[in-house]
Amino acid sequence: MNTDKLVRENIRLLKPYSSARSEFQGAASVYLDANENPMNAPYNRYPDPLQRELKEKIAKLKGVPSSQIMLGVGSDEPIDLVVRIFCEPRQDNIVAIEPTYGMYRVCADINCVEYRAALLHPDYTLDADRLLAAVDGHTKVIFLCSPNNPTGNLLDREAMRKVMECFGGIVVIDEAYVDFSSEASWLTERERYPNLIIFQTFSKAWGLASVRCGMAFAAEEIIGYFNRVKYPYNVNLLTQQFVSEQLDHAPRMREWVAGLLARRAALAAELAAIPWVRKVYPSDANFLLVKVPDAPALYGKLVSKGIIVRNRNNIALCAGCLRITVGTEAENAALIKALNT
Ligand SMILES: *Cc1c(COP(=O)(O)O)cnc(C)c1O
Repeated sequence: MNTDKLVRENIRLLKPYSSARSEFQGAASVYLDANENPMNAPYNRYPDPLQRELKEKIAKLKGVPSSQIMLGVGSDEPIDLVVRIFCEPRQDNIVAIEPTYGMYRVCADINCVEYRAALLHPDYTLDADRLLAAVDGHTKVIFLCSPNNPTGNLLDREAMRKVMECFGGIVVIDEAYVDFSSEASWLTERERYPNLIIFQTFSKAWGLASVRCGMAFAAEEIIGYFNRVKYPYNVNLLTQQFVSEQLDHAPRMREWVAGLLARRAALAAELAAIPWVRKVYPSDANFLLVKVPDAPALYGKLVSKGIIVRNRNNIALCAGCLRITVGTEAENAALIKALNT
């Protein structure tokens, strides 16, 4: 596969902005190159545009070379970058599963890129043939999300493999929920599929949603395009330092995940035991999709008791469904109590 051929011409020809911090790297004693205030160290200095120290740590943790990592302001930044790097507005399109995470469509809409949604099977398994049938000569990117939001299930690996083997463009796998999942990440398959981009995030299992830091893993050529198109200083110093420090607490994150998985099982059982609950879908994520007789009414009732869940009633294949994040034991108990009164 030739990545350059998939990239928009203006991006391929782009002469990227060359920041002071990218022109000179290394240690010096006097920095008079970036019009910074010499006072208020270390916050007076522009941060490393390529976040080298933080990436080194992530590289070790994930077993991926730093050169194959891009860091963004949440995963939302690389989602937008993928659309802008590969899709010519009003000409190219992206294809995604439906239902799925809403940001893929929003980024396509903002960039005037056609969004084609291919329904999952009614049991939320991946319909690879339907997805591939939506592809045409202008399809540059396919978005897959596994475990999927809002359905909670992992997509079938062989069906995903079929998509990657039959499609010549970029395939994104959004693994925001991978830390909660019973299956391994696709990170180990990067070598086999050079057109694969994997997104992960610090927003879920790591408990850092407010910090806004996401990761994209891909072949070096693709990461090169991300780095040319992103804002030079997209990840600020505070975030770089704080995330780096948090990475030292991976064992704590794994404990959180273990606790969450236990509470997920308990909550699923309690919900399923409520006679009027129609279905609790199996989940590989930190939330449960639950089918009830009247989702909008139940949503309103929970709001009136101060409990907020996500009403997914109007989403394709999710009529009658609420998406419920697994909380603490006390929060889950409050939810069950509210449902039973
Ligand atoms: C929550 C979520 C994200 C995370 O987005 P951030 O911008 O990293 O906070 C990404 N993808 C999916 C599918 C999600 O549900």
